[in-house]
Amino acid sequence: MLALQDPMRRALIIVDVQNDFCEGGSLAIYGGGEIARRVSAYLLDKTKNYGVIVATRDWHIDPGDHFAEEPDFVDCWPPHCVADSSGADFHPNVDKFADFSEAVDIVVSKGQYAAAYSGFEGTTPEGDSLQSFLQSAGVEAVDIVGLATDYCDRATAMDALKLGYEVRLLTDMCAGVAPESTALALSEMREAGVIVTQSSQPAQD
Ligand SMILES: [Zn+2]
Repeated sequence: MLALQDPMRRALIIVDVQNDFCEGGSLAIYGGGEIARRVSAYLLDKTKNYGVIVATRDWHIDPGDHFAEEPDFVDCWPPHCVADSSGADFHPNVDKFADFSEAVDIVVSKGQYAAAYSGFEGTTPEGDSLQSFLQSAGVEAVDIVGLATDYCDRATAMDALKLGYEVRLLTDMCAGVAPESTALALSEMREAGVIVTQSSQPAQD
């Protein structure tokens, strides 16, 4: 079996499917709640396709100028995903079909004291980096889903590429902040070598 067709060598990274990034949240992304629902449906029967399943979360304690009273929605944002607030909780739709906390092997928190768009800037509850967690699990390929295509999905995908992973972005389980920046992010990712595809497409070596 080729390495990247071995499910044990592939990780699913679910990016920031949190209340504040979904409808009703302080930084709502259109379609966020639907993405959470699709992720749950996917977890119901696709967990066997992955060696490990990671959920990242934006988890702000004091992120400095990442928050602004007059945000530009590019470099600074309205307060969101404040640690231990309901806005930082995973959206309830992630439990609609599968038990999210059971399906997810590890939660990686990022952005505690500064802006962090990439999951690779985050840490596990034990304080390990996402990279060291994936390496110790023998991961060689990652599938990325979640919010938002043009920010945290993109940053996570680009870091994963730089670290040498085969990277797929499953766009039917992603949503972006704005159409223009989402289109740009998708073309940047494609150009860099990310496989931009759909969850129905099997991983290929
Ligand atoms: Zn943030």
